[in-house]
Amino acid sequence: MASKRDYYEVLEIKRDASQSEIKKSFRSLARKFHPDKNPNDPESELKFKEVQEAYAILSDPSQKRKYDTYGHNGPGGSPFGPGGFQGVNISVEDLFGGGFESVFSSIFGSSSPRRNKRQRGSDLLVSHSIPFEALMNGCEESLEFEVLKTCKDCNGLGSKNIDDVRECPACDGRGRIQRIERLGPFTQQVVSDCPSCKGEGKIIQNPCPTCSGEGRASQTKKVQFSVPPGIENGQRLRMSGYGESSKSVNGDAGHLYIEIDVQEHEWFERDGADLLMALPLNYTDLILGTTVEIPHIDGEILKIKIPSGSKPGETISVKGRGLPSNRTRNSRGSIMVLLKLDIPKKISRNFKKKLIDIRDEMSYSNEELEEKIRKEARSRRNG
Ligand SMILES: [Zn+2]
Ligand SMILES: [Zn+2]
Repeated sequence: MASKRDYYEVLEIKRDASQSEIKKSFRSLARKFHPDKNPNDPESELKFKEVQEAYAILSDPSQKRKYDTYGHNGPGGSPFGPGGFQGVNISVEDLFGGGFESVFSSIFGSSSPRRNKRQRGSDLLVSHSIPFEALMNGCEESLEFEVLKTCKDCNGLGSKNIDDVRECPACDGRGRIQRIERLGPFTQQVVSDCPSCKGEGKIIQNPCPTCSGEGRASQTKKVQFSVPPGIENGQRLRMSGYGESSKSVNGDAGHLYIEIDVQEHEWFERDGADLLMALPLNYTDLILGTTVEIPHIDGEILKIKIPSGSKPGETISVKGRGLPSNRTRNSRGSIMVLLKLDIPKKISRNFKKKLIDIRDEMSYSNEELEEKIRKEARSRRNG
């Protein structure tokens, strides 16, 4: 077996490193060589053990003093007893996030598992449908929903009588237990929810009948809320505190998210604040030009002027009559009107006669037709 490496060398620090430098370096090396990150890698396992041992000594002032004076062969043998270093209780949770202080507390005897955190209640998502017209001015809406709220009969205690609630003996009321797991030559501390009390830290002998001891019961709540003008389909409104009550007695309630489902309009499609629609017109309206008037969702009549000589496929933009912009409330988008040629499926005999007369007037010679074809091709190719 190779000779034991110097602890300072192992932790990659100078001999005059401060405790916080020692801690910082240990933490980063322990993460680097942790068996969870390096499965089936014996070299990392050894490094991991070496790093832990060095830290166990150098983080303890009296052990450090001894080591500084005598090195590895101090009087009284190994500081870890005749068996040598056996690994320490180390929690992955502590290394990869969360508090650091408790990582090594257990080697020196003082065990302090983390407290049961006060958890915020879960968030809730409900869908709510509004008419398309409501996009113009926004709207005031209300909805009813089912949500787990603190039980009124026991005030969230889970028990009618406070004397019937006792601390869970398995976890001493902490809700969390520490388990020591063996990982090859190492032991590792795993913290998990206490199975006896399901992480609650308490045991209820006479559960409240309303909530079966859960402390929370499903209740029907009503909420009123404002939908802003120009809201996007699928956008969520957040109502803080309207979600589920927390499992812990003093914890905050979660949020209620209301996902807005904007109903379809009969003819408008939406592109941000712009509205798109198609307008079928007959041949003469396109040639002669016309003005169309239709009702609009802002309550005013929408006038669309079609200039003479318009072609199907062209668009006419009516500015300032679209939706209020979601960001700048004072401006409104446009309405884009796509012109379509409407061809009637059935026509009367009389109308047909008139059309034939018109066709005779409009017909062109073959030369004229060829010229038109050429012109069309040119404009198509030039975009
Ligand atoms: Zn327990
Ligand atoms: Zn109850």
